[in-house]
Amino acid sequence: MAAKRIIIIGGGIVGLATAYKLGRSFPDLRITLLEKEAAVGRHQTGNNSGVLHAGLYYKPGSVKALLAVSGIQEMVAFCREHAIPHEICGKLVVATEDSELPRLHNLHERGKQNGLQGLKLLNREQMREIEPHVGGIAALQVPQEGIVDYAKVCETIQREIEKSGGKIVTSAKVTSLREQPSGWVAQTPAGDFEGDYLVNCAGLHCDRVSELAGEKREVRIVPFRGEYYKLKRERQSLVRNLIYPVPDPEFPFLGVHFTRLIEGGIEAGPNAVLAFAREGYRKTDFNAADLFDALTFPGLWRFLAKHKRMSWQELRRSFSKQLFCESLQRLVPEIRAEDLETGGAGVRAQAMSPDGNLVQDFCFVNRRKALHVLNAPSPAATASLAIGESIKNLIAKEI
Ligand SMILES: Cc1cc2nc3c(=O)[nH]c(=O)nc-3n(C[C@H](O)[C@H](O)[C@H](O)COP(=O)(O)OP(=O)(O)OC[C@H]3O[C@@H](n4cnc5c(N)ncnc54)[C@H](O)[C@@H]3O)c2cc1C
Repeated sequence: MAAKRIIIIGGGIVGLATAYKLGRSFPDLRITLLEKEAAVGRHQTGNNSGVLHAGLYYKPGSVKALLAVSGIQEMVAFCREHAIPHEICGKLVVATEDSELPRLHNLHERGKQNGLQGLKLLNREQMREIEPHVGGIAALQVPQEGIVDYAKVCETIQREIEKSGGKIVTSAKVTSLREQPSGWVAQTPAGDFEGDYLVNCAGLHCDRVSELAGEKREVRIVPFRGEYYKLKRERQSLVRNLIYPVPDPEFPFLGVHFTRLIEGGIEAGPNAVLAFAREGYRKTDFNAADLFDALTFPGLWRFLAKHKRMSWQELRRSFSKQLFCESLQRLVPEIRAEDLETGGAGVRAQAMSPDGNLVQDFCFVNRRKALHVLNAPSPAATASLAIGESIKNLIAKEI
């Protein structure tokens, strides 16, 4: 019997990890990964915070919780094996007022239920021993978390895929998918590619790619831009590692925080503002098709009606460095607006349901000849190898 052929759409960390896992388990499988950009990892994967999340926040038993917990272990082992820069520096989640204490304690319980080790509630003095400039009244210490160079992770996975015979084709945007008795034909500017099976890991465009494969778009990707500032060099001593606020459980976003980068420097952010383009990295970026898509989706209007105040505050903070700085001062009171330089931005591919709720869990839709990853937001970079493993297991029978 001829070897099966698989097409993976999307060369972000999820598509790459999936190709890698499939190649290792099925050496005869003919793997082709199609990426629309000139190189892999140019979108969410290349513009994230570089944090290794251990699974603290997620509902126990959810796919996210399970894959985050196993994912960080696998990612750290992969980094060790391939000498990829990373560091388990630990994180503090900081409560800044009494009203946040119950949520901080809930987070502690949740983390324990998810199997995190070494979590510790700290009082003011104890947290200042770890982060001397932190404000707030109490903190949860998460010693298992860390920082990593995801670009290097992608480079390494790409090399491993190619070493085992997999093909990565860049500048190959999939513009149509034709189903035929034996599988699929993916049309791209780099040529047509045939496969028996399809895995859609197209990130910010995953709902559209699923539609090309004949799916009905029930959940829709809504782009939320996350903007960063950088701390000026002379003020970087205000933050040693990772300082996060207690998140609002309504949203899958963690709130603006401080992150030490593996290559050096401290980032502050990201916020979460609705973007006018799926790949809209600047405030002025606008894409008519993306905007039309968003505005004609009833889910977005329902979301905005439910979260008017939060959406308005995020928008104001996006345009006001002073407001951004005030959010950061809750964590590190000594920060001043003049300590901050404009940094980069990333856009999150967040799935939203028609009732206006953000899809919280990872979402994989498994069909006979295709699997669609329809929601893989944070911590999908940390969990990517575990996600790849899980996708491999889901489709093993078909391939
Ligand atoms: C601001 C921000 C901060 C984050 N911080 C963290 C963090 O610290 N830790 C963490 O674990 N996670 C973090 N995340 C989340 C993490 O980065 C993402 O969950 C992860 O990168 C998703 O990977 P992906 O492969 O699904 O998507 P992407 O990286 O977006 O890749 C999808 C790929 O598909 C390609 N594509 C799209 N359409 C087509 C098409 N038609 N044909 C061919 N190719 C196509 C795109 O060009 C892209 O390369 C963050 C995300 C953001 C935005």
